[in-house]
Amino acid sequence: MTWDFVGNERVVAALQHALASGTAAHAYLFVGPERMGKATLALKLAQALNCTGDDPPCGACRPCHRIAAGLHADVQTVTVEPSGEGPQHKAIGVGQIREVERAVVLNPFEGRSRVVIFDPADAMTVEAQNAFLKTLEEPPPQVAFVLIATREGRLLPTIRSRCRRVELRLLPLAVVEEALLEVGVEAERAQLLARLSRGRIGWALEMARDPSRLERRREALALARAPATMTIAQRLELAERLAADFRRDREGVLSLLVEWQGWWRDVLLMQAGAQDGAANQDRLAELREDAQRCARAGVLAFVRALLAACRHLEENIQPRLALEVLLLEAPEAAITAHLP
Ligand SMILES: [Zn+2]
Repeated sequence: MTWDFVGNERVVAALQHALASGTAAHAYLFVGPERMGKATLALKLAQALNCTGDDPPCGACRPCHRIAAGLHADVQTVTVEPSGEGPQHKAIGVGQIREVERAVVLNPFEGRSRVVIFDPADAMTVEAQNAFLKTLEEPPPQVAFVLIATREGRLLPTIRSRCRRVELRLLPLAVVEEALLEVGVEAERAQLLARLSRGRIGWALEMARDPSRLERRREALALARAPATMTIAQRLELAERLAADFRRDREGVLSLLVEWQGWWRDVLLMQAGAQDGAANQDRLAELREDAQRCARAGVLAFVRALLAACRHLEENIQPRLALEVLLLEAPEAAITAHLP
């Protein structure tokens, strides 16, 4: 398969078929969990539309190379512009949509098709979506749009209904493990990363490529456990620190909390005697320790609080308050806890 894309074969086959039969949509909506390869698939589509090889996307011709390297003049990704100051500035705004409008009326410079990828499309403000709707209703010829979203509910129904929906699903762990082995990851590490990935192939491959990511995970897990033995004052201090981090690096704090969720979910599983279901298989001793020293009700409340805090942070609703409430909900480690 020239698409060289791991998993979700039916989705890829449908795209291939549409391209081969000239029935490709002018707008696609790629949905599914984070780190599943949605952006990678969008670039493959851009390559297929501009490839000059025999079997598009060949991956070997000049357009394929230039698109993979991010150099192709007709393939553009619209994303959230990094903010200088202030936590509120975290969206794709109307100004960016206007720029896209101006660009797409021009003929492609070097290829056959202009491809505009919105990643993440669910970061478009409602205003931006309304502005984009006009372009989407009367798309210029030779233009393809790809909207990438993990939270498609944030897109207006009018936007969604004008896109062909492509859903990427989590992969079986064995498929992720196999893909890791193929890129040369040793067996034991491949098995662990596959488990930790919970089926998110992109995440697993990123972890395999960049060892510093595992170091960050180690730190995140240490911090996930810490509040259980902290005083109230220390918890509030940590909340303040995380709130300051959040102003600078929103995604960093959100992914930290996702690691925390994974950890405390595993603790719940340990308490239920379902050790095999735990994702953090390399940390069973510490999971067992937390499962023994924290009351189940407290752990459950914290997992719920984590979900609520992430929601509030994503919506930018009083981040500091959300983090304070969260940390006050952390379970307390008791010396005399017991397991069922
Ligand atoms: Zn090619």
